[in-house]
Amino acid sequence: MDFVIIGGDAAGMSAASRAKRTMPDLKVTVLEKTMDVSYSACGMPYNIAEPDREIEDLVVRHAHVFREKQDINLLTGHCVDNIDPAGKAVGGISLGGKKFEFPYDKLLIATGASPIIPDMPGFDLPGVLGLKSLEDGRKIKQFLKDSSVKKVVVIGMGYIALEMVEALRARNIEVDMVKPRPAFLPWLDEKMAQIVKDEIKSNQVTMYPGHKVEKIEKSGDRLKIICSDLTLEGDMVLVAIGITPNSDMAEKAGLALGIKKSIAVDRELKTSDENIYAAGDCADAFHIVTGQKAWIPLALRANRAGWAVADNVCGKDVQLPGIVGTSVFKVFELEVARTGLNAQEAEKAGFDPVEVTIKSRSRAHAHPGSSTIWLQMTGDKKTGRLLGVQMVGKEGVAHRINAPAVALHGHMTVEQFGQSDMAYAPPFGPVWDPMLTTANQLLKKL
Ligand SMILES: Cc1cc2nc3c(=O)[nH]c(=O)nc-3n(C[C@H](O)[C@H](O)[C@H](O)COP(=O)(O)OP(=O)(O)OC[C@H]3O[C@@H](n4cnc5c(N)ncnc54)[C@H](O)[C@@H]3O)c2cc1C
Repeated sequence: MDFVIIGGDAAGMSAASRAKRTMPDLKVTVLEKTMDVSYSACGMPYNIAEPDREIEDLVVRHAHVFREKQDINLLTGHCVDNIDPAGKAVGGISLGGKKFEFPYDKLLIATGASPIIPDMPGFDLPGVLGLKSLEDGRKIKQFLKDSSVKKVVVIGMGYIALEMVEALRARNIEVDMVKPRPAFLPWLDEKMAQIVKDEIKSNQVTMYPGHKVEKIEKSGDRLKIICSDLTLEGDMVLVAIGITPNSDMAEKAGLALGIKKSIAVDRELKTSDENIYAAGDCADAFHIVTGQKAWIPLALRANRAGWAVADNVCGKDVQLPGIVGTSVFKVFELEVARTGLNAQEAEKAGFDPVEVTIKSRSRAHAHPGSSTIWLQMTGDKKTGRLLGVQMVGKEGVAHRINAPAVALHGHMTVEQFGQSDMAYAPPFGPVWDPMLTTANQLLKKL
């Protein structure tokens, strides 16, 4: 059987490796348009922060290992540009300019997503860069090295923008941030968002929310970022206003698309064509809390979905229940995390949400090094169900979010979650963990 995979990173290479481990006789071909496979995109901001570190450190497994040790027919520099579901073949063109075509029995589309670069004047100038692929990271690192960059303007204020701001400040580069919408991290509670903003400002970053960039112009050696009511100047511009799924080819092949033009898949990761699967950032997922489709492109889902596709291609019957939207990022000294829904999202999904926000401590009372943790928990008044949690603090946030994430998978009520037996020792939290305190407070309001 021919198993062909388009895209050679998290979802694609997870699927290829697992399929080969499960069925060593399976013929697995991976077509990857760049020369890079299997790397940690998530590590790029931290790598860029350190000028002396090679970007290649982020490669998890090199192409030759997949080819020589795992017997995977991995073809880099192979850009697929069409899928023919009736003829069960994919075709495209290689970096050398040669046309290719591969027949398949089962196909996985694992093409990921691309950064959104607005079609406006100046966004194609040298020094205006996005960050998604390893090649993007390489270009940013090289530009910072070659152009003695003193100031960067970051367009966007999402998690990749914020991680990059920290990386640039670590290199002593001045940073301004600008974005069109006035709300900073709109999904986060306003008071908690203000804490994050204060942290960014205290690291000498100036933020300009509510300014729509109209164009970028060259100004001597520098770049001018022009909004209707504001002009900023920098040596480099980082465009980090979001990503969009790479689904055009799937759409052209007649496959059904879902939310935000991601490829619609069922719980087996099957698209609307029974021989074609899709996994990772290009595909949608079921949200366990809402029961509806969602597009939340993150690394664990991509890896897990790749595995599930491999299992299904190899004849197992694997269904993924879905995601709860758990995510975390670090900005300077702060950890910011969320899982599930906030009140607005819950209302939209038909719940009757009630929320509570509390301030607690990361360690036991009077234990040295303790710092504040802010938590917000949302529950459903009708059913008592836990709907979501968000958290900000200097420590104890990133891993603590996993407890409510698991509770959401288990459809727990706030009361059940509040009765969970959580660990306690003074260096790690109060005897009543901040999660339990928040659940107890929320229970009073439900
Ligand atoms: C800077 C940064 C930080 C991040 N941090 C985190 C984090 O902390 N936590 C987290 O969960 N997630 C994080 N992510 C997101 C995470 O990296 C992605 O969710 C994950 O990489 C998705 O894997 P994927 O295989 O679906 O897509 P990708 O990794 O995008 O891989 C898709 C591959 O398909 C190839 N391709 C596309 N089109 C074609 C074509 N037509 N023909 C052939 N090949 C093609 C691409 O070249 C690419 O190699 C981060 C992403 C970035 C950019």
